Amino acid sequence: MSQHTPASPSEETADVIVVGAGPGGSATAAYLAMSGLDVLLLEKTAFPREKVCGDGLTPRAVRELITLGIPTPESEGWIRNKGLRIVGGGMRLQLDWPDLSTFPPYGLVRTRQDFDDILAQHAVKHGARLRERTNVTGAIRDDATGRITGVTAKEMDERGRATGRVLRYDAPLVIAADGNSSRLSLAMGREKREDRPMGVAVRTYYTSPRHDDDYLESWLELWSKDAQGKDVLLPGYGWIFGVGDGTSNVGLGILNTSSAFGKTDYKDVMRRWVATMPQEWTYSDETMVGDIRGAALPMGFNRQPHYADGLLLVGDAGGMVNPFNGEGIAYAMESGRLAAEVVAQAFARADDAGRERVLQGYPAVMKNALGGYYTLGRHFAKVIGYPEVMRLAVKYGLPRETMMKYVLKVMANLSEPHGGSAGDRLLNALSRIAPAA
Ligand SMILES: Cc1cc2nc3c(=O)[nH]c(=O)nc-3n(C[C@H](O)[C@H](O)[C@H](O)COP(=O)(O)OP(=O)(O)OC[C@H]3O[C@@H](n4cnc5c(N)ncnc54)[C@H](O)[C@@H]3O)c2cc1C
Repeated sequence: MSQHTPASPSEETADVIVVGAGPGGSATAAYLAMSGLDVLLLEKTAFPREKVCGDGLTPRAVRELITLGIPTPESEGWIRNKGLRIVGGGMRLQLDWPDLSTFPPYGLVRTRQDFDDILAQHAVKHGARLRERTNVTGAIRDDATGRITGVTAKEMDERGRATGRVLRYDAPLVIAADGNSSRLSLAMGREKREDRPMGVAVRTYYTSPRHDDDYLESWLELWSKDAQGKDVLLPGYGWIFGVGDGTSNVGLGILNTSSAFGKTDYKDVMRRWVATMPQEWTYSDETMVGDIRGAALPMGFNRQPHYADGLLLVGDAGGMVNPFNGEGIAYAMESGRLAAEVVAQAFARADDAGRERVLQGYPAVMKNALGGYYTLGRHFAKVIGYPEVMRLAVKYGLPRETMMKYVLKVMANLSEPHGGSAGDRLLNALSRIAPAA
């Protein structure tokens, strides 16, 4: 995959190549272009395109959209939510998003079909050169230093097949924003860490009167009935998000800390779980829109280092999904913002050695921003892998609303960074004390 001899003359050169135009790549490319750098954004698909996701955005993700300058009016199909409804232990608890100075008090739902397209177009508006149907296949490296100096790619046709044309792009810095599998990181020898939590999630859409629910809904337990009518606890956690277009996004996820991980037919769990839901919600095979599709959730910085040899990682490529709640869009965008800040500073240095020193600071920037919190999240993921712990947490935690409000803040990473309540200060202190790794 990694290659040392350039395949063909360079198609294009740039200051920075960003591989992958998901939320991480497009946010990075937009910020880099805003700071005056020449950016190439290479994407293997063509927009608009489907991406398997829950489509849910917490206030942390909305904050990133606001900072990036993406308007989200309801008149343009952005569905707002007020908070999270938690279902478990026979209870339903509705909690509003906290009202904080650092985060807006609302979340959003938007299908990735639209969302990723809007973000990519935003990057283009700010000057990034987007090249769709450009499937990056390998890293071009300098023989002497091992540094990446560009990428090779296959041109794809409108049906997603290779046309046979091999392309080459050159830049002194390359950013891998190519998602969980990150072929580019692998080409540079950066494998996944096995000591980090990993999730798998599946989702589909159903036409439903619940399509305009103004709360995100999270199920802590998934129940079904066996042939004798006895209750059976299924593995995993579920969600129901109203998409506002006549459908609900319904899905479930499971962590590799659970003994059922890898041994479960997730599509079957989905069917059995929705079969227990009230009929008036109309979740059934007949109302299903599209297939049940799944993908992985790489958590807790499961690929590192986040910078080395001219290759910098953002989003899922760097394993940046929050282990507490499986949220990845906010963190892909946040890492893109922080990466672009570092890169802009690096390019302002006069010589290569100075640039390199600045770029080598990026792993510490990411650890400083999220490392301690993700260490706490890794322990949390381990603990909830035991069904008995989860059962007790649901039984004794859920009836205590004040406590649950705090749990919501912790799980969605919504605390004031400075000052705030005693709870905010506790979370910040714990995140600081926990070793970032
Ligand atoms: C079922 C499911 C539900 C989820 N629900 C939520 C949710 O509700 N909220 C939330 O915040 N997160 C959710 N996530 C996580 C979220 O989808 C990811 O964390 C997020 O998409 C990461 O963004 P990214 O830009 O890093 O990567 P991606 O979104 O994966 O984008 C990577 C991009 O790179 C492109 N690419 C890949 N390889 C190449 C290549 N070789 N050459 C060129 N381009 C390439 C891809 O086509 C894609 O456009 C969910 C995940 C799953 C699986």
